[in-house]
Amino acid sequence: VFITLEGGEGAGKSTQSRRLAERLRGLGHEVVTTREPGGSPGAEIIRHVLLSGAAKPLGPEAEAVLFSAARADHLDVTIRPALAQGAVVICDRFADSTRAYQGAAGSVDHRFIRALEEVTVGETRPDLTLVLDLPPEDGLARAEARAPGAADRFESEAITFHQRLREAFRMLAQEEPTRCVLIDARADVDTVAARIWQAVEEKLRV
Ligand code: C5P
Repeated sequence: VFITLEGGEGAGKSTQSRRLAERLRGLGHEVVTTREPGGSPGAEIIRHVLLSGAAKPLGPEAEAVLFSAARADHLDVTIRPALAQGAVVICDRFADSTRAYQGAAGSVDHRFIRALEEVTVGETRPDLTLVLDLPPEDGLARAEARAPGAADRFESEAITFHQRLREAFRMLAQEEPTRCVLIDARADVDTVAARIWQAVEEKLRV
């Protein structure tokens, strides 16, 4: 089973990923948690290049290719082997982040993004995508509180970028209702975890 968490900055994806993993493990499931960009040694190198700002001279298309290159390696090295062993894979961000960040909120043509997704992701689509939704102001404040002054290259984008991003994730949840569940992430950690668990139970009957 392949579960992804998506959403803007400070939405609580990594905390919720941990909570969900604990709960599933408690029921006896084998669980692998991972994240993007990164999740394999090769992809972590690309993560560093992307988030440090070192890749900023690259145009948006080249940047989207780099995110996808990281994803291809992550899939080969980490995700597909874990799924083949029967593990539940929980991934903090996946291809929808590229659609939203580089596509909808960025400036890369959606056909370019789709073509990249086709060749890198192929058949390995998430069974369930949890879209954590909250106003970008709240999320950015949480991210800043967590790591003061440490905003990465994307967190530092203008607020309008983050608003487009939120809209893109909300649209995604609407367009793919069989795969995606929109989760109101403004509440406290326990409440959001309960909402997520309800979605996981409903969709996957674990
Ligand atoms: O989730 P996390 O904060 O670790 O993500 C790292 C950064 O990479 C985020 O700031 C996010 O905005 C950015 N990102 C991106 N495009 C993706 C995936 C992540 O711009 N496809």
